[in-house]
Amino acid sequence: MTIVPNYKAIIIGAGSAGLFAAIRLAETAGKGILLLERGEKPCRKLLLTGSGQCNITHAGKIADFPARYGGGARHESAGRFLKPALYGFTNEDLLSWFRAQGVKFETEENGKVFPADRRASSILKVLQTEAERLGVRIETNRRVCGIERLPEGFLIRAEGLKAGVLENVEYHGAAVLIATGGASYPRTGSSGDGYALAALLGHHIVPPKAALAPVFVKDFALICLAGLSFRNAGLTIRRGNAKKLEMEGDLLITHEGLSGPLILDASRHIDVGDLLEIRFANAAIEEFRARLDAALKSNPHRLVRTVLADSGLTRSMAERFCDLACIGQEETAAAVPRAKRETLCRLACAHPFEVEKLGSMDAAMVTAGGIDLSEVNARTMESRLVPGLFFAGEVLDIDGDSGGYNLQAAFSTGALAARGMLFALAR
Ligand SMILES: Cc1cc2nc3c(=O)[nH]c(=O)nc-3n(C[C@H](O)[C@H](O)[C@H](O)COP(=O)(O)OP(=O)(O)OC[C@H]3O[C@@H](n4cnc5c(N)ncnc54)[C@H](O)[C@@H]3O)c2cc1C
Repeated sequence: MTIVPNYKAIIIGAGSAGLFAAIRLAETAGKGILLLERGEKPCRKLLLTGSGQCNITHAGKIADFPARYGGGARHESAGRFLKPALYGFTNEDLLSWFRAQGVKFETEENGKVFPADRRASSILKVLQTEAERLGVRIETNRRVCGIERLPEGFLIRAEGLKAGVLENVEYHGAAVLIATGGASYPRTGSSGDGYALAALLGHHIVPPKAALAPVFVKDFALICLAGLSFRNAGLTIRRGNAKKLEMEGDLLITHEGLSGPLILDASRHIDVGDLLEIRFANAAIEEFRARLDAALKSNPHRLVRTVLADSGLTRSMAERFCDLACIGQEETAAAVPRAKRETLCRLACAHPFEVEKLGSMDAAMVTAGGIDLSEVNARTMESRLVPGLFFAGEVLDIDGDSGGYNLQAAFSTGALAARGMLFALAR
């Protein structure tokens, strides 16, 4: 057993939240900050973000951010909990910090912000260079498996391989930050260890669940339309007889089912067995019905599929909907009975899909659930149960929408935890 001397602060997990917290802490506290990472390299998940291009944040007003987070089921809503972190280190602060390190950004029409060179690795390089410059000690291949509160600080137990031999190491730190991420995409290192560590110290864990995950539907009949995307499609989630939620957003049809921001963002609200109604057309069903009826009536000799396509659907979709409504591809408008017209309207404006299964943790971009927010001080990120223990990033019961909200939460909570730890060290 190797005993390593005292550190001012030990940060568990070198993801976006942990690495940034270490940098912010070292900016003021100087040396004596230890970052323990179970993988061979830091920030493996960051490198995958935005398909490797890193959608680092959103350009919207910071006041609009809190509504974009789920979580906080027990006592406190995630949006309310996150306000001090988001306002304390805003999207503009984040971009300014990276700009000061020479990174340029570009914003897409939908508000998503990316580094101008579209490389997540550029963001990681800046973080690593800063951490090194400030003297943050990063130990990789160190999986933390135990944490104990001592009269003074904490004892951290980690295991790792050194020259092929399993090694157990103990560390002492005055303050500890758990930034181990959630339980999704475990191949990047986030397999839920932080929950077990927090539970060892008495914290309650809201059961983890896949979020920002694809949704698989029963008897998916639109495989031939895979690749089609829709701006501002509509989604209604029904459970039993109740309408649970209505949302709008961009939708993508895949070979396996439904995806795109609308479905990913809604996935935290969806359960197996739910009925999803999708509006593909750019009008509510009443308006679409009136438009289609008028078009069919005034063009009795045109093909139904052509009239349908002219009503705001793509040609391939109009053809598929005719098949599903048992309308021949060569059938003309005059011949379509009311019941079939009604079927077309439903397929276009309230297309029903029954949810068969949800994307697993392996495919989910984010984890819903985690450290119960009611046990964490939102102004410092310090545990309300264990003084000197802090949390940041996805390990908390927070899950953001797609669009840059999750990385912003990781950086903002990391920055706030660093400030909280500085205060704790000065106590
Ligand atoms: C494919 C994909 C694409 C995404 N794209 C975007 C995007 O474009 N924009 C966006 O905002 N969000 C995106 N996200 C979400 C975003 O990446 C995460 O929310 C964010 O990385 C969370 O940061 P974190 O530091 O809390 O956790 P992580 O990045 O998961 O980091 C946690 C770290 O802790 C380490 N660790 C875990 N357990 C231990 C232990 N016991 N001991 C030591 N170390 C440990 C892990 O190895 C890991 O390095 C994406 C996620 C995925 C999976």
